[in-house]
Amino acid sequence: MKINVNELSNHLNEEIIFSGFVDAVRDKKWVMFVILRDATGKVQLTIEKSEEANKTLLDIMSEVTVDSTVRVVGKVVSNEAVKLGGLEIIPSKIEVTSEALPLPFDYNNLDGVNIDTRMDFKWLDMRNRRNTLIRQVESCLTEGMRSFLYENHFTEIHSPKLIGTASESGSDVFEVKYFDREAYLAQSPQFYKQMALAGGLDRVFEVGPVFRAEKSNTNRHATEFTGFDLEFAYIDSYEDVMDLEEDLLIAGLKVVKERYGDEILEIFGKEVIIPTKPFPRIKLKDLYQQLHDRYQFEIPKEDIGDMNAEAEKLTYKFAMEEYNSEFIFIVDYAATKRPFYHMRDSEGKLQGYDLIWRGTEITSGAQREHRYEELVKNANEKGLGKDVEFYLQFFQYGCPPHGGFGIGLDRLTMLLLGLPSLKETQFLFRGPNRLTP
Ligand code: ATP
Repeated sequence: MKINVNELSNHLNEEIIFSGFVDAVRDKKWVMFVILRDATGKVQLTIEKSEEANKTLLDIMSEVTVDSTVRVVGKVVSNEAVKLGGLEIIPSKIEVTSEALPLPFDYNNLDGVNIDTRMDFKWLDMRNRRNTLIRQVESCLTEGMRSFLYENHFTEIHSPKLIGTASESGSDVFEVKYFDREAYLAQSPQFYKQMALAGGLDRVFEVGPVFRAEKSNTNRHATEFTGFDLEFAYIDSYEDVMDLEEDLLIAGLKVVKERYGDEILEIFGKEVIIPTKPFPRIKLKDLYQQLHDRYQFEIPKEDIGDMNAEAEKLTYKFAMEEYNSEFIFIVDYAATKRPFYHMRDSEGKLQGYDLIWRGTEITSGAQREHRYEELVKNANEKGLGKDVEFYLQFFQYGCPPHGGFGIGLDRLTMLLLGLPSLKETQFLFRGPNRLTP
């Protein structure tokens, strides 16, 4: 079995097998140094030229191209002069397991490399530590949030992404051919999360793909992204939902800070800030007033009752100035701007919220309407009554009051690391003009 770089010190003076990429070859007069790397770090191979037995190894390594992969049998020895962990491998056998062609760009210096080229060659782009770190941070954040939910007795579910009716909003849905009929790609697991609650699980979550047929070329929209969605029962108000989201984000960010905080600061220049509770909460109407008074911002007519990208940016500025908080909840959106399944109170006031972080919306959440008659009324108002008939049935046989939210995981990662767009953030970006690799 291959020994990883980070395990080598446990094998001093032993013969081991090491496999990895060729990072660099330094051919000196008396000795050849080869730097190899794997996912855990770099190690030096030292091949003395004076040793007759090394002739074959030297022949192999003088031909090898950078980024080829090799399998080495050798002895791990300690050598204080070696910068890479104070140890080196003295090889007795080297085999080139895959030969690399000359690379289309230098992944160690991505400045000036077109983002489309980087996406075309994503697997090379990823060889830059910055880009593997993005994946590890996102994984760590997910792990932290998942653990928090397990500890709080949530059950992870997996709902279908192929669906038979274009439901939630009607627009922005991808149609797919499904044998001899039409099917659609799910825009969110919303309905199925709620179905699980109607089924008696009282706390559920799902981390999975979400599809949106939005032709928007912004830095924060993709046509496929990862939704981190949850729903839980027996709440008294949407305030309970916001409380839970605070705890969830704090739990996730804490794990990231602990494991990667220093490296994130070093590579991305961003500090991982653990927010304190409660995050500030403001009514949309009051926020408009603040944005007007402070920054002379007027919400355009078509966006009244909602936010737009510029308002979100200014809201961040306001939240920092007023509350020294990177996060801010906005409540009291217009019911007309929100999905039919968000609850309204007896005066028609919407029982939902958005959460803005560092100037971008990361979540929509709400208490959901669980009362069948009300739900039918809301769906009909939006002209969706027929489309969502299957969904409405979930609420006819008893369903507890409940609420939940959906976080765009990709956006969360983008904002956490201060990345310019989802093109850089997503493992494989999907947008209106990109379906490969
Ligand atoms: P926006 O107004 O920014 O388009 P939305 O109101 O359509 O977002 P929701 O339907 O509430 O978003 O989805 C929940 C979360 O999913 C959002 O808060 C956001 O973080 C994320 N999200 C929504 N659309 C996209 C997208 N096209 N690409 C990436 N993330 C998205």
